[in-house]
Amino acid sequence: MPSKKLAAQQSANQKSNAPVGSTAADCDLCPKCKRKKHDTGRYPRSAAERKKALLRDAADPNSDLSANARNFIRKTKGDNVPPGYQVSHEEPLYTVPKSDRCELDVADNMKTQPTRTHRARHKRCGDQYHAF
Ligand SMILES: [Zn+2]
Repeated sequence: MPSKKLAAQQSANQKSNAPVGSTAADCDLCPKCKRKKHDTGRYPRSAAERKKALLRDAADPNSDLSANARNFIRKTKGDNVPPGYQVSHEEPLYTVPKSDRCELDVADNMKTQPTRTHRARHKRCGDQYHAF
């Protein structure tokens, strides 16, 4: 008949099964970006990098943004994309395996542009279509 003592012993045995020197949390992190591993499923885009790109483009007088869009980004502190715009990846994420996408998902590879422009660039013969 299982005693309390036996149950306690079994519980202690289970705890000592964890591998020495590593925690479950380490194994779940991407070695490149230190976020949760993203080699399967839907790649989670970095909100922090998108925010950097939005704030940079809102402050750039040469970017393709209306005065309204710039104000929107300033007001929302880069947390939201202005209506009618998208943040594109200049070298598209789909060109690399999911496990490597965080290397392209950085502000330096992003550009805020009108949705219409972004769509046109991805169509056959758009510059992002042929380049990749
Ligand atoms: Zn990563």
